[in-house]
Amino acid sequence: MSELRKALKDFSQERDWEKFHTPKNLSMALSVEVAEIVEIFQWLNPEQSQQLNPKQKSHLAQEIGDVMVYLTMLGAKYDLDPIECAQQKMLQNAIKYPVKS
Ligand SMILES: [Mg+2]
Repeated sequence: MSELRKALKDFSQERDWEKFHTPKNLSMALSVEVAEIVEIFQWLNPEQSQQLNPKQKSHLAQEIGDVMVYLTMLGAKYDLDPIECAQQKMLQNAIKYPVKS
């Protein structure tokens, strides 16, 4: 995660793009990239959505990458690691939704 964070920071600095990367803009960009994932599945029936063809899967991989990029950049603004956030959330979910015996 820290390698990705550094690579993204270097990429932005080298292009002087950091001025565009406000939390507002990053959250909006993240939302757009999530919508691009939704678009892949938009007109597929449930069965088709379970078995993407290679082109669709490649497209999905690109959009997941975009989502991770913006999520990582947004988290970095507040020194938050998305993986650690997810792990914390899973701990909370386990308490909130205990396994029924
Ligand atoms: Mg995209």
